[in-house]
Amino acid sequence: MKFDSKLIHGGTSYDKYTGAVNVPIYQTSTYKQTELGGEPQWEYSRTGNPTRNALEELIAQLEGGISGAAFASGSAAIHAVFSLFSKGDHIVVGNDVYGGTFRLINTVLTRMGLEFTAVDTRDLQAVKQALRPNTKALYLETPTNPLMHISDIKALATLAHTNDLLVIVDNTFATPYLQRPLELGADIVLHSASKYLGGHSDLVAGLTVVKDEKLGQQLHYLQNAIGAILGPQDSWLLQRGIKTLAVRMRAHNENARQIFEFLEKHEKVAKIYYPGDKKAPAYALAKEQMDDFGGMLSFELKEGSDLKAFIESLQLITLAESLGSVESLIEVPAIMTHGAIPREIRLKDGIKDELIRLSVGIEDVNDLIADLKQALAKA
Ligand code: PLP
Repeated sequence: MKFDSKLIHGGTSYDKYTGAVNVPIYQTSTYKQTELGGEPQWEYSRTGNPTRNALEELIAQLEGGISGAAFASGSAAIHAVFSLFSKGDHIVVGNDVYGGTFRLINTVLTRMGLEFTAVDTRDLQAVKQALRPNTKALYLETPTNPLMHISDIKALATLAHTNDLLVIVDNTFATPYLQRPLELGADIVLHSASKYLGGHSDLVAGLTVVKDEKLGQQLHYLQNAIGAILGPQDSWLLQRGIKTLAVRMRAHNENARQIFEFLEKHEKVAKIYYPGDKKAPAYALAKEQMDDFGGMLSFELKEGSDLKAFIESLQLITLAESLGSVESLIEVPAIMTHGAIPREIRLKDGIKDELIRLSVGIEDVNDLIADLKQALAKA
């Protein structure tokens, strides 16, 4: 089956009890058992639920893995993945990861004895130098949030595997429609499914996928033990969102391309970060590793421009956290999504106070460009 068909018919796509063409919402916490001490398939909904299970099978298939797990949020998925490690283990992590991941690492996981070193994962030498005898994993995003840095998953996986490390990739920005990290050598792929996979700003969810059976069992054990599972209603809604991923992604890709071309020529725009920028050093890698360039871009206005006036003048593009939805969303990472990162670290990593992140939606691109144009005139 081709990817577009898998979105609709992959995993468990219909209800085996009734033939319903959508797996229903099995809104139950527990299941009637027929014998004492038996081994029922379903026993308690934290451990397993048919609606959640259908979603987990689907995402595993889309990412080219064998086992998926659904969580209450992307952050819960990240927490479960880091729970694979023990006190004293060291993990090399990308220096441009989502602000909430940075917060989880620095204010929660380090207190529990995990050790982290943040490096620019575009630089293989820097990753190599950060390795220690107790290093157990490499964790990265590509493209990163919000600077759209592209790291070479294949090369990093080769380096990591010669050192017995697990490679964990947050694939939220690309989605399996554009990039499949497991096929490039990663061991664990994870998502904030609140973004493109859900696609409609109507749910918060997280997903993990692995291609190794033992790792899959470990993650299911942690999912059940920690308990931050995705409920049946949101599992159903997420599966519904995923069905249209391909058509939505094609529209996101095309709209972002046209908005990049518009912004690139605009006199008030100083710099744009976009994986599809042919002049960017990472363009060749992005083209090789991804099937297209996605709907995310970030940009800075020229000095002296009025950022507040620009943002507040937008009529159609919504000022909001989050991304990956049908509607275009704009935000300023320094005071919104990445506010948890101390300013000096943020600036060192290139996330300026005036950086703007735009999640290009699937509205008519002419309306989006007209909105940006009128707001830039007021900046
Ligand atoms: N990873 C990335 C790249 C994100 O952008 C986000 C949220 O913005 C997360 C993880 C966390 O996901 P959630 O908000 O679903 O907890």
